[in-house]
Amino acid sequence: MPHLVWLRRDLRVTDNPALSAACANTGDVITCVGLPDAQWQSHDLGAPARNLYQRRLTPLTADLCALNIPLLMLDGATFADQVNGLQALCKHHGITAVYVNREYEFNERARDRAVDQALAACSIQVHWFDDQCLVPPQTLKTGQGGPYSVFTPYRRRWEASLREEFNAPLSAPARRPALTLAPARLTAPDDPLAALWPVDNDSIQTRLERFVARPLDRYQTDRDLPALEGTSSLSPYLAIGAISARQVLHAVLQAAPHALDGASDANTFVSELAWRDFYKNLLVEAPRVSRARPFKVTTETLPWNPPGEAFERWCQGQTGVPLVDAAMRQLNTTGWMHNRCRMVVAMFLTKNLFIDWRHGERYFMQRLVDADLAANNGGWQWSASTGTDAAPYFRIMNPVSQSQRFDKNGDYIRRWVPELAAQDAKTIHAPFDAKAHPIGLKYPKPMVDLKRSRQQAIDTFKAHQQDS
Ligand code: FAD
Repeated sequence: MPHLVWLRRDLRVTDNPALSAACANTGDVITCVGLPDAQWQSHDLGAPARNLYQRRLTPLTADLCALNIPLLMLDGATFADQVNGLQALCKHHGITAVYVNREYEFNERARDRAVDQALAACSIQVHWFDDQCLVPPQTLKTGQGGPYSVFTPYRRRWEASLREEFNAPLSAPARRPALTLAPARLTAPDDPLAALWPVDNDSIQTRLERFVARPLDRYQTDRDLPALEGTSSLSPYLAIGAISARQVLHAVLQAAPHALDGASDANTFVSELAWRDFYKNLLVEAPRVSRARPFKVTTETLPWNPPGEAFERWCQGQTGVPLVDAAMRQLNTTGWMHNRCRMVVAMFLTKNLFIDWRHGERYFMQRLVDADLAANNGGWQWSASTGTDAAPYFRIMNPVSQSQRFDKNGDYIRRWVPELAAQDAKTIHAPFDAKAHPIGLKYPKPMVDLKRSRQQAIDTFKAHQQDS
């Protein structure tokens, strides 16, 4: 009797708990994967992330074929259709057990409950595994037994738990005796970002190895400088599970054995993996955040400005604020944006323009190659002061001082805003401050007064807090 593995955001054969568990049985193992495009579009998942996912299926099929495991396509453009598709697939192949790694978003969990019911009705057992996080959601609780809503105490407990137990990643399963079914024929989408974000194992592994080969203590400073390649750029691959967080942490611990110790120089990078788990944990502990609702419910009624033309200018990188424009153009061109810039543009949108974070969140989902609901929603709500940020709403990053501090020579701005290429390192951060807009400069004047709009945002938050 064949066993079926349903692959979702775990597109790899190594360190895949569901696949390894299915392969522990004798008998045939079949895998399937779906492309629920209509559902993904309703989640605002844009072409860069969808294309990455679909492209990854080609090397995945080859890896599975080498193990004599066929990959079939699961029918269904929506999650509801997928439940029916899975039932039909199981019936057709006489499947007795299905193996799946969990997803934690609201709709994904609702679909998986429906899967449980539908397959139980056909006497098919479903085996669920936690795979995406280093510490599965809802494992860690506060001293009072409640969910964590503040990052730092969560991170401390998270690190302690991993110091106690962290198992090396699983190897790929052994080759099965023979390929009994032909794998699905795949067509790779025409993806303009394909060269930037290769999906073969060697390229992904090289990225990881190159990153850990650098002194990890340098990450602490380099990660904030957008002109450098100071971070791992593994986020797209983590988002689709082409690599697991365990594989990343394992490689880091090989290079820096004390990285899980808060005092270690390499700990800053490990903290980023903790953020990743923190926001996935939040999806389960506070499911409303998956449903476009703020974590801080009192901020639900903030009087945001309508998006209109201001939002369009932000999207296009035409705000007249150089760091914001450079970052938005990096996003529009490459599908990726540096983390510090993500915070800067998000605060600019939600504080200086006072536009609802949900517009920015949606635009990022549509444009990011690493689009991930948990991290994206977490980052947006953190920046908009509607989320878990422990700092108060009046901590607002000034995009000019951020630029002066983290892009000192203006190299990042020059790369993405060629209109400013001739500006010197002093004026490039705020060319408009040279009193008169430099003659002949084909670059817009800032669309908003940074100081005044900052104060307005603070006043509005303050008044709203008093009212609620
Ligand atoms: P590294 O610095 O090398 O970090 C390693 C890994 O840790 C990342 O690949 C990522 O998986 C995880 N990570 C790092 N920082 C964070 C963080 N703050 N929150 C959660 N996980 C983190 N990350 C996404 O993966 N997808 C998103 O859709 C996303 N949207 C964001 C939106 C906003 C407004 C903000 C402020 C942050 C967002 N992030 C998102 C988090 C972060 O910016 C990216 O993970 C990071 O820039 C990816 O680059 P990297 O792989 O080089 O990161």
